[in-house]
Amino acid sequence: MTCQSKMSDKLAPAIGIDLGTTYSCVAVWEDDHVEIITNDQGNLTTPSYVSFTEKGRLVGESAFNNAAMDPINTIYGVKRLIGRRFSDPNVKEDIKLWPFIVVAGAKNRPKIVVNYKGEKKNFLAEEISSMVLMKMKQIAETYLGCAVEDAVVTVPAYFNDSQRRATKDAGVIAGLNVKRIMDEPTAAALAYGFHKIKDYSKPQNVFVFDLGGGTFDVSLVNIYGGYFEVKATAGDTHLGGEDFDNRIFNYFVDEFKRKYKKDIRGNSRALRRLRSACERAKRSLSTTSMTTIHVDCLYEGIDFSSTLSRTRFDELNKDLFAKCIEFTDQCLKDAKVNKNDIDIVVLVGGSSRIPKVQQLLEEYFGDEKLHRNINQDEAVAYGAAILAAQLSGQANDMVNKVVLTDVTPLSLGVDITGDVMSIVVARNTSVPTKKVKNFTTIKDDQTSVTFNVYEGERFQASKNHFLGMFNVSGLSPAPRGVPSIDVCFEIDADGILNVSGTVRGSGQTSKLTITNEESWLRKEEIDKMIEEAEKYKAEDEKHKRKVDARRELDDYAYEMSKIMRNQELILPLIPEGEKQRIEDEICEVMNWLDLNKVPPVEASNSKLLGLKEICEPIVAKMKN
Ligand code: AMP
Repeated sequence: MTCQSKMSDKLAPAIGIDLGTTYSCVAVWEDDHVEIITNDQGNLTTPSYVSFTEKGRLVGESAFNNAAMDPINTIYGVKRLIGRRFSDPNVKEDIKLWPFIVVAGAKNRPKIVVNYKGEKKNFLAEEISSMVLMKMKQIAETYLGCAVEDAVVTVPAYFNDSQRRATKDAGVIAGLNVKRIMDEPTAAALAYGFHKIKDYSKPQNVFVFDLGGGTFDVSLVNIYGGYFEVKATAGDTHLGGEDFDNRIFNYFVDEFKRKYKKDIRGNSRALRRLRSACERAKRSLSTTSMTTIHVDCLYEGIDFSSTLSRTRFDELNKDLFAKCIEFTDQCLKDAKVNKNDIDIVVLVGGSSRIPKVQQLLEEYFGDEKLHRNINQDEAVAYGAAILAAQLSGQANDMVNKVVLTDVTPLSLGVDITGDVMSIVVARNTSVPTKKVKNFTTIKDDQTSVTFNVYEGERFQASKNHFLGMFNVSGLSPAPRGVPSIDVCFEIDADGILNVSGTVRGSGQTSKLTITNEESWLRKEEIDKMIEEAEKYKAEDEKHKRKVDARRELDDYAYEMSKIMRNQELILPLIPEGEKQRIEDEICEVMNWLDLNKVPPVEASNSKLLGLKEICEPIVAKMKN
């Protein structure tokens, strides 16, 4: 599309949108710099709120302002719902805290119920998000004076496939052509690098600490020669400013109950007003050591006033702040980088302004490492705008030098004999990626092989998360170990996985695309799997020893059966009767192997010993 006014004959620019849980921000690449676009109220960020009224729909600031008046019909925080099931325990927890109504819709999808223009209406999270995206699009269009279509939209690093797809869908509903779904920490690192790095010849480790309203992401980004590579990510899709607000909120609800013997929990308007006061108190505690909260006529005509000190606030959130440092530690361990090797820590997200959080980070990394110059609220949209410009070919040479890569949160592979996970793409591999691993048959004359695809960190394949299966057929009959099958895992820039198996020589190919939204994991599940993998390391070792012992027996029995089948070689060495006895023994072992897929190590070893006792004399004779 051409743009008539400001940009005259140029193409309409692509925009970068940081679609936040609580606030959103839009930016554009213009005249060789990034412009963060102000909304109609002159603010650089816009509340991700939608309010439904008798007269119409409000989005952004006006919706936020309407929240206290009409809490039941004012929707916020839908980023917590997007791409999730109603039965998801996180959804159940969130619903308890929201004044608006969420019910189970078709296919177990959460539906938000509101009163709109006097009628009961249902909306999916994607629809609400699309309204916020549409608002951000309009803000950009008003500024640019032309229609905008192309956009890069950011999501937390741990958003799974279904959440990414749902966000993309929201963009489509909003009339946007979403050119890329980008991880928020990558965008922030890009913003920092673009601002600060003049000399790309020196590699730098940038640690991005993003604590927003509803999500927490940490990432280690390595910047070298204009390349930004995310080495590792960790985080929690359920940790942020709203959780800190909730702690203050519960503290004051209890205080109100103690003082007035009244519980305000059933009154959504009172809850909303108290929650807003708590959020304001939290913000002011970032600059003062004591704050007052006052809500006129909070409940049954009672005015509520109280104070909160920064020390008390820190105490109420102590475990949550500690969690932030735990994830920081986990991320560095994953990246195999020592904290002393971090050059800079970039603070992103409104909640990273909290003094206690900064203090803990200073204690962990050292004071001089914290970079506070970048605007916490704008960095993500800034980075998204740079990528948007690059993808739509509107950037300058400096932008075009920058290449972005993300990583896989879990290892991906297939199961092989003995329920062993054979990793094809290791955890934290940069994406997009394409990896090929070669496999073969376990039986003579096998004409097909079934591959089960898993993701996870356990040695035992079935303990990981099953993604799907595919069958490679059309193999020409051949002894086991001879056919050669190339299994290829390809992950595209949006994180979609395609698996294929090709028989070498014949070119026979089978394909599997992991598109089932149920197949991908929630971040909590990913964390749990990593945690379990650590816990069960000993169990995995045990399993590995069993599989190794069985494999040794299997290989030996197979080799010996091959030798015994060679009449010309064997008959001159042993009498016919002896040959039959050995063949029976081998056959017995093979039947036992068929029945015992993971036998105890001792059982495999003792069978191997028994078989060797009768076979070794022949092997010795053969050598002579
Ligand atoms: P974001 O999602 O990055 O827009 O962050 C929004 C969150 O940051 C909200 O929970 C805000 O309450 C919080 N926030 C913004 N400013 C401050 C501040 N000065 N101190 C503490 N929290 C803040």
